[in-house]
Amino acid sequence: MSVRRRAMTWSGLCLATTLVMSSTPLVYAAEANRPQPPKVPTAVGTGGAVTTVDNYATEVGLSVLRDGGNAVDAAVATAAALGVTEPYSAGIGGGGYFMYYEAKTKTVHTLDGRETAPRAIRPDAFIDPKTGKPYQFTPHLVTSGVSVGVPGTPATWEDAVRRWGTKKLGQVLEPAAKLAHDGFVVDETFRSQTLDNKDRFAAFPDTAALFLPKGDAPAVGTVFTNPDLAATYRLMGAKGVAEGFYAGPVADGIVKTVNAPKKTPGTTLPVPPGSMTAQDLKGYRTVAGRALQSGYRGYTVHGMNGSSAGGTTVGEALRILEKVDLTSLPADKAQHQYLAASALAFADRAKYTGDPAFVKVPTDRLLSTDFATQRACLIAADKALVTPVKPGDVTATKDCHTTAPAEKPDTENISTTNLTVADKWGNIVEYTLSIEQTGGSGMVVPGRGFLLNNELTDFTTVYDAKDPNRIEPGKRPRSSMSPTIITRDGTPFLALGSPGGSTIITTVLQTIVNRLDLGMTTPQALAAPRASLRNTAEVTAEPEYITSKGPGITAMGYKVKKAGDAFTSASQIGAATAIEFDQAGGMTAAAEPVRRGGGSAGVLTPRS
Ligand code: GLU
Repeated sequence: MSVRRRAMTWSGLCLATTLVMSSTPLVYAAEANRPQPPKVPTAVGTGGAVTTVDNYATEVGLSVLRDGGNAVDAAVATAAALGVTEPYSAGIGGGGYFMYYEAKTKTVHTLDGRETAPRAIRPDAFIDPKTGKPYQFTPHLVTSGVSVGVPGTPATWEDAVRRWGTKKLGQVLEPAAKLAHDGFVVDETFRSQTLDNKDRFAAFPDTAALFLPKGDAPAVGTVFTNPDLAATYRLMGAKGVAEGFYAGPVADGIVKTVNAPKKTPGTTLPVPPGSMTAQDLKGYRTVAGRALQSGYRGYTVHGMNGSSAGGTTVGEALRILEKVDLTSLPADKAQHQYLAASALAFADRAKYTGDPAFVKVPTDRLLSTDFATQRACLIAADKALVTPVKPGDVTATKDCHTTAPAEKPDTENISTTNLTVADKWGNIVEYTLSIEQTGGSGMVVPGRGFLLNNELTDFTTVYDAKDPNRIEPGKRPRSSMSPTIITRDGTPFLALGSPGGSTIITTVLQTIVNRLDLGMTTPQALAAPRASLRNTAEVTAEPEYITSKGPGITAMGYKVKKAGDAFTSASQIGAATAIEFDQAGGMTAAAEPVRRGGGSAGVLTPRS
């Protein structure tokens, strides 16, 4: 890897705009003085659309669509580009959930590409054998071989393209390989995310060599290249992922890194080793399925199934909200309903959801209007729901619990990335992918240019044999990722998703409510200040939400605190993307105007 000074000029930027407006795909020149793709949060038009948190990735997706690729080809190309420019959020060292609306059959397909626990993992994997006590969660457990799950993203890409794409894997990976090779201009988000991880990255010589050249985070405005990642993408494209990733030298490197992490001499991080084998990698498979379906005010909500709790939790909360007419309520009372519904759904998420290959999840019941009636009865019209609230009883017919259980810590973090793509044939992809914490485990596979995930920390950290999300060999940890597609009378209306750990669920929910109930357009719904109540004692909220809605909901009894965590100074929730579809084939692609430095939306044929 190398970092070069950028000599970016305004005329360079104008050139970029010209290139993007023309039908010629943008070419990434190797020299520093070169255009950057534009960064606009909203794009309206026809012919296809891409929206992500990153302008280079959006441009890669658009170039594949221009080139005749369909939404699946473009989504995989876009995800691979995000692996280059957002390497701390997602990449081939992690996993995710791919949702595909196939226009021809009006079917919403899913691929569960979540990481799996190694076969040799033990129930006490999160206990330090030296002390007999749980590892300190962060940075110790996060920055370890123990937390690394078998990556699912390479298999997801290959399976998606093979099942539904029109191009070969190598073709769709090539623009991202070129981007990795030629580099991208470092922005404030990339630099600050690197700095947030500086101590962890410095603990591993291979990570430091890639992301801390000369001991520091790359400066804003320099060009960051990752030729190792370019070579890995090309290897996967040439050989297929079974040989190019899940076996052979890349797999060997993963196993060695997980089981015997190479540490920088003198580092004080303990970095406990994991127990991944070549067999674990070889045996990795995605799970193909159909999206969950539930209803909301006449719309059909297609949610993520499987090891993600996203579909059931968003769906249940909407079912609860359906019991009231939000449009007729004053703003504060509507917020109260949203917060309370989400807290109730989170209580049920904790009790009932886990990898369905290992535990029985009462999905139909959680998404039923009957169960929603039982849960909604706990919400008073003008008084806060006292949280944490008990989970509902899925076997009961009447159920209005009021006593509170012990609060479990919420250990999910705010990394991950999301993309939404649509093509001219009406196909849509909603895809959320992650390496869990920003920077994942902190461990780069030597010579391969990518970070390994720490996704296994999404298992409940204190083992409890009754917990559906307990550690088990081969199991996928419970996720909150919530790619969602909403249809009306069988026709796509809105596709959306977000990163943000467990706040993914509330961001998707809040955006839907903003759009469908509170009179906002999709770009407004996405940009609006966010708040999240995940059945903890306090609502976490963005500063703008605290200013505008804080007094009203506090008066009802909610306790509100500023969003944010120990790892980042940002007090933002999520970084969503969405596309809304109109009846005439028009698309409104929306990205974040501000969060994570602002996202990038584009359409093939802009509407003037
Ligand atoms: N690991 C989280 C999940 O699967 C996502 C992490 C994040 O968004 O920061 O729900």
